[in-house]
Amino acid sequence: MVETVSKRDIRKLKLDELKEFFVQHGEKAFRAQQVYEWLWNKSAKSFDQMTNLSIGLRDMLKEHFTINHIKVDNMQRSSDGTIKNAVTLFDGMVVESVLIPTEKRITACVSSQVGCSLACKFCATARLKRQRNLTPDEIYDQVVAIKEQAELFFGRPLTNIVFMGMGEPLLNYSNVISAIEKITSQKGLNMASKRITVSTVGIAKMIMKMADDGVKFNLAVSLHSALDKTRSSIMPINDTNPLDELADALRYWYDKTKRKVTYEYVVWRGINDTEEHARALLKFSKVIPSKVNLIEYNPIDDGEFQQASTEALEMYMHLLESHGVTTRIRKSRGKDIDAACGQLANKS
Ligand code: SAH
Repeated sequence: MVETVSKRDIRKLKLDELKEFFVQHGEKAFRAQQVYEWLWNKSAKSFDQMTNLSIGLRDMLKEHFTINHIKVDNMQRSSDGTIKNAVTLFDGMVVESVLIPTEKRITACVSSQVGCSLACKFCATARLKRQRNLTPDEIYDQVVAIKEQAELFFGRPLTNIVFMGMGEPLLNYSNVISAIEKITSQKGLNMASKRITVSTVGIAKMIMKMADDGVKFNLAVSLHSALDKTRSSIMPINDTNPLDELADALRYWYDKTKRKVTYEYVVWRGINDTEEHARALLKFSKVIPSKVNLIEYNPIDDGEFQQASTEALEMYMHLLESHGVTTRIRKSRGKDIDAACGQLANKS
């Protein structure tokens, strides 16, 4: 009779489970530690890379396990240095992740879901609908791939991570948290939590949960309007998560974490480019200590939304800054390869 062993993805095992496996197979428990380091710290993609294990032991692992690594299939480089990766997951689905180089930083922008369920009217990812959540290792691997690109193409380390790729991180909360735990752990990438930013459409109860969980990373909220009527018309999530609930959740966040929030805000012609809108944002920005990033609109081909005039942006800037709110205008990067905010849509 032929014995068939169905292979498991070894990275689904916790360190303790791996130890148990080794002991059960007559090996020393410390081997588990070595393998774990290869898998996470050194991001090994095959068992043959694990050169401090005997060939026999590597073969035994191959019999029982696979390493389901993501594959970067299509890398595009923008004229401004930005790199966009099309990332194939083990089941053939594709997400995108972006390396954004600036003078001081190299930032990895990673996806948390295949597609997105939120239906923000101005965002290309919304059109893909949500297919599934990414697993913790699929999120982790995107960071590793960009870390390797940073070293290879720029000779510099990865400095920051933003969850601003495809999907809503707070709707895949436990996997995002597991990935961040690995990214920040000494057995993983040993990156500081304060270099990580999770961006959310603003799901009130999840912001409160993060506060309760005592997370140490930064929070960004895609606000885009501080008037319910307008926000609901462009972001359907606002119907069930209106601004006063968001404000309550943010107060709760600040009470517990003492961390500021960053608002992402696009100013569009005819939608939110008047002083009434700017004043509403000013008021909202005082709910808890905050910063505002006015981000440039990246057209997503149907022309319904257009970037507001420079005068409108300056009006916002002046009003906010004169009332003590740190405000930055963020130019988009990677536009020529559809790698900018809201443009991730698996076009390739
Ligand atoms: N779902 C999360 C993570 C996505 S981050 C969130 O909503 O925050 C992507 C950021 O780009 C969000 O701030 C989003 O509102 C913004 N964005 C979406 N489409 C855009 C576009 N066409 N131009 C500029 N920014 C856009």
